[in-house]
Amino acid sequence: MKQIYLDHNATTPVRKEVLDAMTPYFSEEYGNASSVYSMGQKARHAVEEAREVVGNALGTEAADIIFTSGGTESDNFAIKGIAMANLSKGRHVITSSVEHLAVLGPCRFIEKELGFDATYLPVDKYGVIDLNKLKDSIRKDTVLISIMFANNETGTLQPVKEIAKIARENKIYFHTDAVQALGKMPIDVEELGIDACSFSGHKVYGPKGIGALYLRKGVKITPFQHGGHHERNKRAGTENVPGIVGFAKAIEIAQRDMQKNDACMKRLTKKMWDGLNKQLKEIYINGHPENRISNTLNISFRYIEGESMVLNFDMKGISASTGSACTSGSLDPSHVLTAMAVPPEMAQGSVRFSFGYENTEEDVDYCLAEIPPIIERLRKMSPLC
Ligand SMILES: *Cc1c(COP(=O)(O)O)cnc(C)c1O
Repeated sequence: MKQIYLDHNATTPVRKEVLDAMTPYFSEEYGNASSVYSMGQKARHAVEEAREVVGNALGTEAADIIFTSGGTESDNFAIKGIAMANLSKGRHVITSSVEHLAVLGPCRFIEKELGFDATYLPVDKYGVIDLNKLKDSIRKDTVLISIMFANNETGTLQPVKEIAKIARENKIYFHTDAVQALGKMPIDVEELGIDACSFSGHKVYGPKGIGALYLRKGVKITPFQHGGHHERNKRAGTENVPGIVGFAKAIEIAQRDMQKNDACMKRLTKKMWDGLNKQLKEIYINGHPENRISNTLNISFRYIEGESMVLNFDMKGISASTGSACTSGSLDPSHVLTAMAVPPEMAQGSVRFSFGYENTEEDVDYCLAEIPPIIERLRKMSPLC
């Protein structure tokens, strides 16, 4: 049976070129990057070269990049670390109601453990925050604003540059989770005025368990991994050399192919939507029609449940998901769609298709042949119909 992977926002395969770049660092160049002899120095050199590549791709210096174990760690480090280092300034954080759990979790943690107040900004029907509400929510004791770059469930983009400007005018740190934006659109952290920014390897055809945090010079942050002097004393632990090398290679390729890939993603998602919309009644796109990452297509199918669609698609070899991998399995409707005021029955009937560079027009043709009959069949059985 054909296998069509349409869940690239959950994870991506490691590219061949990425794997090839990583391979020597497992059992040939296996030195510890902190060792002084040449084997160690080769590893050190590979790590620092990777840092240059990542810094370059993000419009900043290598010195501002801290390698972490992934997007979740980067978000935790930024939010808890900045909160803890700036307690004398205040205990208020502003975030949004559509963040990834890797941001919402740390915000709840600092509320509970450090006595912070958190403001969860509402969003409009497209999932975008209101800049005036952001301004109104700022207090004397606001330390940090954390609002994501691109949403993992809908692809909707936030006005990051405007948020950064507001934060800077009010002398508040601005962190953004850019895990889903990386490799899909240009990100220039200095030009955008971002203070801290999270990235992950496995969403950009790199390996799992590697990521990065951009931290602008001068940002006060408390490390929570103590031990050696790794990562400029900010994150102790022997460097994941193969992971770091692979992550940098993946970013390099994503940068190289960005324009071509973006055009391709636009074409495939449009073809998918137009094709489904022509064949099926009562289906709706969730997320901003234009201001979104081009690979993501989140659709609500009225009268049926996301979970049963996903299982039936899987029987035809199509991998897609109901919103986020971290929350799937729970029966609650997505917090992202709920915040966008999508009615519960429509939120429950949503499926996210997230495309990648290896998807083809033929993949979409296959989906357009297989999906509509599944929907029709499920609708016939639905008590809601
Ligand atoms: C996947 C994802 C994360 C988590 O990254 P990991 O590397 O899997 O820990 C965080 N934020 C967003 C928006 C994501 O899509």
